[in-house]
Amino acid sequence: MSFTLAIVGRPNVGKSTLFNRLVGKKLALVDDQPGVTRDLREGEARLGDLRFIAIDSAGLEDVTDDSLQGRMRRLTERAVEMADICLFLIDARAGVTAQDEVFADILRKKNAHVIVAANKAEGNAGEAGFLEAYSLGLGEPVRISAEHGEGLDELYHIIRPHA
Ligand code: GDP
Ligand code: MG
Repeated sequence: MSFTLAIVGRPNVGKSTLFNRLVGKKLALVDDQPGVTRDLREGEARLGDLRFIAIDSAGLEDVTDDSLQGRMRRLTERAVEMADICLFLIDARAGVTAQDEVFADILRKKNAHVIVAANKAEGNAGEAGFLEAYSLGLGEPVRISAEHGEGLDELYHIIRPHA
């Protein structure tokens, strides 16, 4: 059985790094789509023996003005609607920020099925941020490093029952 997993979170937490790791080269660019869907990337992802569709919200990294809030919100809402599971990334080194709370609110309001991942947690660098992630109230977080490929076994075991 296949499912769709949306990788969501504020800019710079490592969504695209994780997406690229899960999808590898099998990237299907979602172009010719109206509206915000243009900024969502879809790909065939693989984690252990799990095969699924991963969604990355792209194209927001360079926007810094106030319009970002609304755009990010719409994009995230759209990704959540498309997904069976949302992988909510925070930056474990930065801890939980006010912007992370905005995303947590969106996920709560949408009643999304959420897995919280504290990324950039290679070594022990993100331990404090990882612990802060419990305060989001979205369940037990998992430590990962998208860049170094750490914590993916644990992520697999968390995703698998929901697949
Ligand atoms: P996005 O904006 O959420 O898509 O984030 P990106 O995937 O573009 O990553 C933002 C920055 O964080 C880049 O410089 C990445 O190299 C870095 N990054 C991503 N994952 C990790 C990680 O696991 N550890 C560390 N130390 N840096 C990471
Ligand atoms: Mg990105």
